[in-house]
Amino acid sequence: MIAILRKNASPEAVDHLIGWIEKKGLSTNVSRGENEIVIGLVGDTTKIDPFLLESMDIVERVQRVSEPFKKANRKFHPADSSIDCGFGIHIGAGEFQVIAGPCSVEGENLIRIARQVKAAGATMLRGGAYKPRTSPYAYQGMGPAGLDLLCEAREELKMPIVTEIMDPRDIDVFIDKKIDVMQIGARNAQNFPLLKEVGKTQIPILLKRGMSGTIDELLMAAEYIMSEGNNNVILCERGIRTFETRTRNTFDLNAVPVLHYLSHLPVVADPSHATGYTRYVAPMALAATAAGADGLEIEVHDDPSHAWSDGAQALTPDQFNDLMRRIALIREAIAPAADTE
Ligand code: PEP
Ligand code: MN
Repeated sequence: MIAILRKNASPEAVDHLIGWIEKKGLSTNVSRGENEIVIGLVGDTTKIDPFLLESMDIVERVQRVSEPFKKANRKFHPADSSIDCGFGIHIGAGEFQVIAGPCSVEGENLIRIARQVKAAGATMLRGGAYKPRTSPYAYQGMGPAGLDLLCEAREELKMPIVTEIMDPRDIDVFIDKKIDVMQIGARNAQNFPLLKEVGKTQIPILLKRGMSGTIDELLMAAEYIMSEGNNNVILCERGIRTFETRTRNTFDLNAVPVLHYLSHLPVVADPSHATGYTRYVAPMALAATAAGADGLEIEVHDDPSHAWSDGAQALTPDQFNDLMRRIALIREAIAPAADTE
């Protein structure tokens, strides 16, 4: 349920209403836009009489929110959310960011790749130190030593780092090393204890869509994180498993405008895992940009044939550089017309 307040509602009256709702055992989510204040009611809304609420002086109207996701819902928060990732980098609400780097942190090559993606215009550095691999015999990642290499690259390049967390027991290490953005991978999109645990921090979360996850399941995963108090969630479309076998996954670009319609959270697209092949990454990165993604996550490696994971989908730094130039052109082409008033 949401209560949309009258424009002239005084701060005291708003606080009084919030207190009244919270006394009934519900929590509130207040969104102050330019033109309206929206109070989202979270919890057992049967305890509130919507007619009584609507009869209050400062309440313009009351609307039921039928979707099971509340805090992630655009109805609760009509304006786009902007997530602060550190180093002055914000994503969403018109700000577009490119996250690039190798699939896995492998060693000293990280800093070389990081310098090249930054020079090409990437604004955030990625690299997995803990890798979710289908086979237990495949490379599992460097662990804390990999996080240290990311931190060293961050110090030199002054850019936020994005890296996957797989186990709630590692959260203290991620906090300790001040990881800027924690990625929840596709395989953990419904790992509810992990989602709850990262929800207890305020660290931005790049939340990937599950391999066979629906858009609603992605939003419910975001809701798990937000219901614990962390509103810094960035959604990520990374392809879903379908009957198609010519690509690693099927890139569901519909999800970009659909997620924007349903939610205020920023939406990033990952054409690397969505396609699985270097040759398809650039066209789909451009398509995702044109579809209105707030950012891209792209795997880059300076020697893809020797990469320890996902070499088949890595761009070389030169390919990435050329792609960044074309992404800028697409961004320009789709920019809303300048306000001529
Ligand atoms: C990754 O980003 O390297 C990764 C494992 O992604 P996903 O969870 O989307 O497969
Ligand atoms: Mn990968």
